[in-house]
Amino acid sequence: MLQCFPQSYFDEVLMSTCARYGERMHFHSTASLVRELFGTAHESCPIDFPAHLNYFVRQLPIGHHMTVDQIIDRHTLYPFTAPFLPSARAAHLREEMKTGAGRSQDRRLLTGRRISVAVPEYLRYCPGCITDDRMRQGECYWHRLHQVPGVEVCPIHEVWLETSTVSAWDPRGDQRMLPVEQVVTATTPRPLSMQEPGRESILALARNAAWLLANPQSSVNLQMWADRYRYLLAERGWSTYRKRLTWAPFWAAFLRIHPLPILRRLDGHAGSLSTGRGIRALLRFPRRAMPPLYHLLLIHFLGFTAEEFFALPQHPTWFGTGPWPCLNPVVPHRNERAVVQCEVRIRRQDGRPIGTFSCGCGFTYSRVGPDWGPLAQFSYHRIEQYGLYWEWVLRRRWRDRRLMREVLAEQLGVSRVTLWEEAIRLGLLPKTSSPREGKRWKRVPGVQPKDCEQKRVQWQQLAQRRRRTLVQERRCRRLYAWLYRWDGVWLRAHQRRNRETGWTRDWAPRLDWATRDRQAARAIIRAAGQLTMNQEPPQWISRHRLMTHSGYARWIAASLDRLPQTRQAIQSAVETRKAFQLRRAIWREGEGRRTAVLATESQVRRHPVTSACGQSGLFEAEGEGW
Ligand SMILES: [Zn+2]
Ligand SMILES: [Zn+2]
Repeated sequence: MLQCFPQSYFDEVLMSTCARYGERMHFHSTASLVRELFGTAHESCPIDFPAHLNYFVRQLPIGHHMTVDQIIDRHTLYPFTAPFLPSARAAHLREEMKTGAGRSQDRRLLTGRRISVAVPEYLRYCPGCITDDRMRQGECYWHRLHQVPGVEVCPIHEVWLETSTVSAWDPRGDQRMLPVEQVVTATTPRPLSMQEPGRESILALARNAAWLLANPQSSVNLQMWADRYRYLLAERGWSTYRKRLTWAPFWAAFLRIHPLPILRRLDGHAGSLSTGRGIRALLRFPRRAMPPLYHLLLIHFLGFTAEEFFALPQHPTWFGTGPWPCLNPVVPHRNERAVVQCEVRIRRQDGRPIGTFSCGCGFTYSRVGPDWGPLAQFSYHRIEQYGLYWEWVLRRRWRDRRLMREVLAEQLGVSRVTLWEEAIRLGLLPKTSSPREGKRWKRVPGVQPKDCEQKRVQWQQLAQRRRRTLVQERRCRRLYAWLYRWDGVWLRAHQRRNRETGWTRDWAPRLDWATRDRQAARAIIRAAGQLTMNQEPPQWISRHRLMTHSGYARWIAASLDRLPQTRQAIQSAVETRKAFQLRRAIWREGEGRRTAVLATESQVRRHPVTSACGQSGLFEAEGEGW
């Protein structure tokens, strides 16, 4: 039983209380003090995660009401780390601190994590807090917040922390368990300048760390952090809703909030913070436990304090909280918050959420989220269903002959064409009377039914092929465009049937790259042959000329990375400059011989190569000073 064990102060490190006890009881060495407090001589009392706390609490005198959990939450750095660990690991760490068994990686916050963040080598203190503590309690103590890696200033006094001579992590150094009173000499505080670059960032880190220590949070599923980051980054426009983040502008903005000198100061040996690798890993690998400092930096960048961030809903609310307004224009409860049902799904093409809101009156609308503000609730992107009440109103007003159709459409909140379609659907108009199709057919007096029939058959044959050559593909598209324009009704019905029978793009790839590749490669080889055989003045067979000459330049150039054979063909056909010069020289010689008979003096002067020795022109050129 420990007699006269002092009470811990607010935010005091456990080691500090023990040191004050040691001083009060005049222990001659740290080792004997540790043996008495923790029942072991092997481990000291580290400031981050002290162990053997069960033993320690049993030794406390009667009237000391501290429980083990209270010690862990109020006097160790556990609350700073635990929220960012997977819950199983956090629980394991807490258990280890209680029993002292094992020595997991997580317990080495100060000693082992120097790779990813800089860890203070010596215990630190704030001169302002020292003065305050002395005034309030008559003595001062080691504060927990001042020892947190990444905290450089005291958030209360806004002064830089001072470094003492007491080592922070040498577990067996004799000087370690020293109370602050013995080592602190009166120092004048160094205020944090208003012009200090990244002042806000430095202060925010300290404030967030202080909040975390004062409000222990239970650890959560790490995926939840990732979800929140993803949501906030997309909401602020840094990434898309499918997690695509353009790194360069994001990192430039990050460095504006947290200037590089600060990141370098906080960085560990690996340099992953100042290079951006750490923050990148935080976003890319949500299951990986990362240092709390990285999380706090990102949270501040996103414009939140730790308190606000922890208060965010677990699952992002894209459309606010219900009930939502009913947007049916004809019901008495129009724009009143009558919709209680909202289903959210994620759009495949860009990962954005779509909310489908269905009201009791049958009116159902959907909106692509997330909402840009509270007024977004009064808008929709699509009406899924008009509902019985709306249809009843339409039927009743349709009979009113004095009401113009345009006015009725406006009253019902739809376009004229939609009104027409709905009227047909409800049987108010005969099926053939759609204004759209009537017009379309009128526009095409030239289309013959025979023509139509032929194109339909051709398109069907081509569309059902699994693989199409390039020519077939082009024809198929032309036919499709024709049918789309002149025979839309049949095409739509037929496409639907295709879809029902399972004919989809997935198993019938639109582009058969292997065949295309072979074709293109053949075209390139052919082009190379033609260019070489050309009787005209020879042209250099360059990559560009090959592609142009093959006739497929436009798509070969655009998709060369998908055409390996073509690439190979181009590589082997392209001529080096030297080879071309040689070929041209040979051609000139041949040409010279052929025209020698007809050559006049002036021609000879213009083409000196035409002499018996093909090289003479070259030598002459050199002689003239080239
Ligand atoms: Zn202070
Ligand atoms: Zn309604």
